[in-house]
Amino acid sequence: MRVLILGGTGDAIALAAQISMLANVTVMTSLAGRTLQPVAPVGNVRVGGFGGADGLAAYLREHGIDVLIDATHPFAAQMSWNAAAAATTIDILHLMLVRPEWKKVTDDRWLEVESVEAAAQAIPMAAKRVFLTIGRQQLAPFAPLTECWFLMRSIDPPASDLPLPKGKLLLDRGPFTLDSERELLKKYEIEAIVSKNSGGDATYAKIIAARELGMSIVMVQRPAMPPGARASDVDSAVQWLKQRL
Ligand code: NAP
Repeated sequence: MRVLILGGTGDAIALAAQISMLANVTVMTSLAGRTLQPVAPVGNVRVGGFGGADGLAAYLREHGIDVLIDATHPFAAQMSWNAAAAATTIDILHLMLVRPEWKKVTDDRWLEVESVEAAAQAIPMAAKRVFLTIGRQQLAPFAPLTECWFLMRSIDPPASDLPLPKGKLLLDRGPFTLDSERELLKKYEIEAIVSKNSGGDATYAKIIAARELGMSIVMVQRPAMPPGARASDVDSAVQWLKQRL
């Protein structure tokens, strides 16, 4: 059985490692190629876009892929819709590995918004020092907010041709600990956070630190996902696959 994992997440790395241990299964991971030095998954790796849903369908057919597992980030919606369409077109098995959203708990001060653009409009008036933890691709909507100072954290630097908000760029890769997140918020005198509702443990510490400090989080909600089979964690995805071997 030939399995293609659409990657770009820690879950995709863990999934490739587990699937590679199954007998009679060949695993390959596809990366978009955004990160300069990605963590290398076990098994074969290919890098770069496919050219939309049609390009992906052609690739799947050409490489004799039997199972497509979409383990992309919950905010990589375009890829997920392309994957669902391509799997339907060539009629192969398709699973989405979607980790659960973070749920707001008592003492969380979340302002939930539908997009990064909406987040830029929703930053509380009183917050003048803001921690942007949304990666590097969608920083431009914050550039017009010249009365704010932004701490921007991403794995790689943003593209040089995009307008950048005023502030400091911090290049770092999770997971992050509660102690380090607490220190960071205090050191830079942060007053509000902008985050995507990515879910998972690797970046949850900032949510706890904000809760402790009574800090507001502008939380970007997830985009709509296509219908289809889903697993909420790596072990469940492996079980799903085993049942189909
Ligand atoms: P996206 O908007 O859903 O996808 C844009 C295009 O990038 C897709 O149409 C596809 O190009 C290509 N692409 C995306 N994921 C790919 C993959 N795994 N393999 C090959 N091509 C891929 O995706 P995005 O939000 O830019 O995310 C890009 C990558 O970064 C994803 O792999 C995702 O898992 C990872 N990531 C994203 C976020 C986030 O917040 N968006 C956070 C962490 C990691 P073609 O149409 O040409 O095939």
